[in-house]
Amino acid sequence: MQILDGIKLSKEIKQEIKQKVESFKEQGKRVPHLGAILVGNNGASRTYVDNKIKDCNFVGFESSELILPDTISQEELIAEIVKWNNDDSLDGFIVQLPLPKHIDQEVVINTIDPDKDVDGFHPMNFGKMALEMETFLPATPYGIMEMLERYNIDTAGKHTVVIGRSRIVGRPMSILMSKNGNPGNSTVTLTHSKTENLEQYTKEADIVITALGVPGFLKAEMVKDGAVIVDVGITRVDDSTNPRGFILAGDVDFDNVKEKASWITPVPGGVGPMTRAMLLKNTLLAYNRKK
Ligand code: NAP
Repeated sequence: MQILDGIKLSKEIKQEIKQKVESFKEQGKRVPHLGAILVGNNGASRTYVDNKIKDCNFVGFESSELILPDTISQEELIAEIVKWNNDDSLDGFIVQLPLPKHIDQEVVINTIDPDKDVDGFHPMNFGKMALEMETFLPATPYGIMEMLERYNIDTAGKHTVVIGRSRIVGRPMSILMSKNGNPGNSTVTLTHSKTENLEQYTKEADIVITALGVPGFLKAEMVKDGAVIVDVGITRVDDSTNPRGFILAGDVDFDNVKEKASWITPVPGGVGPMTRAMLLKNTLLAYNRKK
């Protein structure tokens, strides 16, 4: 069994981006600029946005942060997004999800200028991805594709089973794995909570990608020998022995599944850091397009 090391790989990618930014500076050009809008005070969301800003600082991007109260109306939030759409100094921005319940997430995503939608959530970018056109890919599936490519994992003709069909992870993952390219060219089965006999699919899979958010869901008896296992799940599980009061748990029963896997991602330290690095890559793409 070998580890798909997202920490090591994401450091390499960030280093590559940092070097590009340094060369922009040497040429007297401006640097890429990423913005993040955070609505409310959700602890996990706050951490995600802080990390995005930290990553920008590391690679030398400019960053802007807009923190809005969770009492903000949908109209007021839309007005802020329109301002950022029209701000020429910004290459791309994200609106951190989830949003408070009184705000329609769909309306918000559809308001973001697709050319600045570095999360790749706008229907236009999702459509381009499905049509295999160059676009901003959603960061988590993008990070997994990058990881498979850089570790030379053979995906062509393989059977990939994705568990979870969310619009930010599972569904785009299934589309990318079936694309005509490398990585890709997989025969994909997309499963979800209504799938009957899920085990029958995972047992036959060469590659299993779990994105459901149920700690320890994928057990050793559900996978075949030599399978590649990619665990997207991150769930906070209470743990009084941990100084933070919780641990992060993946969807895979790692200790047992690793005995059968050929390659496996740990949690934490697998898909998560790759996701962060891909937002930077998308921002760089937005910047280069603008140039
Ligand atoms: P989500 O929107 O809640 O979707 C979960 C999906 O899993 C749904 O499609 C659901 O099916 C399916 N599912 C739930 N229980 C199932 C079961 N018992 N058997 C089969 N399918 C089941 O979640 P998400 O946003 O995709 O996130 C999934 C996990 O990944 C979470 O732990 C999240 O924290 C993590 N995540 C990690 C990263 C990262 O960077 N590492 C990024 C994003 C998300 P239905 O559609 O039928 O309900």
